[in-house]
Amino acid sequence: MQLHIYNTLTRAKELFVPLMEDPNYKGPKKDFIWFYSCWPTVYRDPTIGNYRATFTADLIRNVLKISGYKVKAVMNITDVGHLVSDADEGEDKLEKGSRREGISAWDVAKKYEKTFKDGMSSLHIDQFDVMPRATDNIPEQIELIKNLEEKWYTYSLAWDGIYMDTSKVEHYGELMWPNYKKRLADLNAGERVEMWSKKNPTDFALRKFSPENEQRQMERESPRWKWFPWWHIECSAMSTKYLWTQFDIHHGGADHITIHHPNEIAQSECWFHVHPWVKYWMHNEFLQVDGGKMSKSLGNAYNLKDIEAKGFSGLDLRYFYFTAQYSSFQNFTWEQLEAAKNARNNLIKKMQKLFDAHTKIILDFDFWMSYDVFKDEIESKYVWDVLEDMIAALADDINTPQLLAIINQSLNSLDKVEEVDMKDLFVAFHRLEKNLLKVGLFDRIGQETVTIKVPSEITNLADQRVQAKKNKNYGLADDLRKQINDAWREVKDNKDGYEITKS
Ligand code: AMP
Ligand code: ZN
Repeated sequence: MQLHIYNTLTRAKELFVPLMEDPNYKGPKKDFIWFYSCWPTVYRDPTIGNYRATFTADLIRNVLKISGYKVKAVMNITDVGHLVSDADEGEDKLEKGSRREGISAWDVAKKYEKTFKDGMSSLHIDQFDVMPRATDNIPEQIELIKNLEEKWYTYSLAWDGIYMDTSKVEHYGELMWPNYKKRLADLNAGERVEMWSKKNPTDFALRKFSPENEQRQMERESPRWKWFPWWHIECSAMSTKYLWTQFDIHHGGADHITIHHPNEIAQSECWFHVHPWVKYWMHNEFLQVDGGKMSKSLGNAYNLKDIEAKGFSGLDLRYFYFTAQYSSFQNFTWEQLEAAKNARNNLIKKMQKLFDAHTKIILDFDFWMSYDVFKDEIESKYVWDVLEDMIAALADDINTPQLLAIINQSLNSLDKVEEVDMKDLFVAFHRLEKNLLKVGLFDRIGQETVTIKVPSEITNLADQRVQAKKNKNYGLADDLRKQINDAWREVKDNKDGYEITKS
């Protein structure tokens, strides 16, 4: 499977070539992909917009695995002083949460980390391999800041913080292109950003000092100033610690393209003298509501509780996310969520119909499988073609709407499908559900047990056996049973005649 993904850094859809297969890569030997994604700050109930970002991170990881790669996936937990505005302005989100709820900033972080992880489970999003907290990785952040200070990339503002001087950063802002140089020039002309006493509008804090007359809950002692942990630095420090000084894919929400990610790049590239620090940058676009911005003041920053209160499940929302490509805006309306719920239920019903009645097969595989491995199990030409189409949709920058269209199409024309292809079709869907969809496709089938039609040769043998028994020809009846067993079936007598199961 040749995976193509849109790389924000180059603004092009590129063939994915992992570092380990890249001739320019000089790092340690490895046989897996390094993947990092930025998590929201844990200071309030995550919105369905936040979950679109988490869903996308999981989706990318799953598609990589289906493509045959092993993946080490890290998602950081921002449990420290991220200000309400990304541009180092406004209140500290954790302090804000603390005032709102009358509990400590530490308890706010603990509470919403749990809420977030519970929400991930409702959406069938697996935990990531490492989910480090910023507060558990303070020494690594201090070391990084020290290193940047030693290299003269920083300056101090009294009573404010230590800042990165972005004019000294060779490729600063590259991620923002096209026209990033012009955009930076506009910023430098002071058009859009308050300068305070920063040297350049794009300069950003590496650590903030506690205000003189204010006790910050998460502040730390240091020889010079009391300070509190900061935002951008955590991602550079933790990605290095849990991955390496260079890695394959970095994901985040599209809002990070202009501030947070350029700042992460600046810190890491100046620290390690690597360029590019990350090979592929992937960003999910925002979820909008009723065609506009989702915001608390408009009362439309919905969370999972709002969704559930209206009778929808996490899996309805999960299906809804699949209906738009991750890199496009997605519009949320209650009608569209209703449509997603109906579409999910229809899919489950079609799946149920596919395997209605007759004999049972047990699918006992519950492990990850790449496409190249599982397609070898498929004998049916029809199913091969369907699978190839589905994989082509995924390989095309993870085109999930196209994937859903192919799935529905293949189930709509079942009357044209030969009976022998049915089992393979089921196997293919089963793999896809386990490895990627996870929308509860087999909910009503239960316990991995599904039914497929008994071939007519077997039912003929069973009918002959019934007749032989009626004729008291037990030798023939035994012989017929053996023939049925040789075809990997069991025949059991019951009040209606017989039942055939898989042996
Ligand atoms: P917040 O905690 O609200 O700052 O959001 C954390 C991150 O979640 C943002 O930086 C985005 O990357 C992502 N995010 C927030 N809102 C949305 C949205 N409406 N759609 C998609 N992603 C979002
Ligand atoms: Zn980050």
